[in-house]
Amino acid sequence: MKNIIFLAPPAAGKGTLSEMLVEKYGYCHISTGDLLREEIKNGTEIGKQAESLMKDGKFVSDDVIIELISNRITKKDCENGYILDGFPRTLNQALKYDELLSKLNKDLGVVIYIDIDKQLAMNRACSRITCPKCGRIYNKYSNEMKPKQEGMCDDCGVLLTQRADDSEQTFINRFDEYVNKTMPLYDYYKNKGVLKVIKSHESKYETFDEAIKVIED
Ligand code: AMP
Repeated sequence: MKNIIFLAPPAAGKGTLSEMLVEKYGYCHISTGDLLREEIKNGTEIGKQAESLMKDGKFVSDDVIIELISNRITKKDCENGYILDGFPRTLNQALKYDELLSKLNKDLGVVIYIDIDKQLAMNRACSRITCPKCGRIYNKYSNEMKPKQEGMCDDCGVLLTQRADDSEQTFINRFDEYVNKTMPLYDYYKNKGVLKVIKSHESKYETFDEAIKVIED
C-alpha cells in the first residue's frame, strides 16, 4: 500500500477520511494532533510544552514533531503502509521527513491535498465533537456524522467532548498558521510530482470516493 500524506487546512476531514481508509485498507493512522493530545493526557514534558501552543492554535516545534514521527513510523504496525494526518505542516518538517525516509529506506507515497472552502471548514470545526475514549469524530453540523444518541459515542456510550482548539478564534489562528506555514508544501510536493488534489464535499462518502480513485490510480 502507498503511504499517504494528507495536506489540508484544519477541519477539512483528514481525520474522518483516515478512519474510513483504515477500515477499507488496514492502514496505520498517524495523527500528530492525536499523538500530542496523548502526551498532554499523560502529563509528559512534550505535553506540557505543547498544551498552551495548541490551545492558541499555534504550531508545536518542528523538533518535537519530528521526534514523535520518527518514533511512530518505525513501529511494526506501519510496515504495510501508513497515513500521515497533520504532518508535515512546515517546509522544514517536509525536508527533515525526506531525510528520515531515505535513512529508513521508505517511500514517500502519495500526497493528497484536500481542497475546502474556509467557511465550511469553520462550521465543521465549531460543531465537531469527539469521543474521548476511542477518538471517533462526530459532527452536529452534518446529518451523516451525528451520533445516534445526542452527545454520546455510538461505540463506547461515553459523553462526547469538544476539542479545546475547536473554538471560532482558535480556528482562525489555526487557519492562518496553515496558510502561512503549510501552504508552501503544496508547491513543494507538486514539484516532486506526488501531489493529487481532491475536494472536500459535504458528504464524507463523496470525498472518500475521490480519495479511493487517487489511491488506486
Ligand atoms: P490537528 O489534530 O491535526 O488539528 O492538530 C492539533 C494541533 O496540534 C495543531 O493546531 C498544532 O497546534 C499541533 N500540531 C499537530 N501536528 C503538528 C505539526 N505537524 N506541526 C506543528 N504542530 C502540530
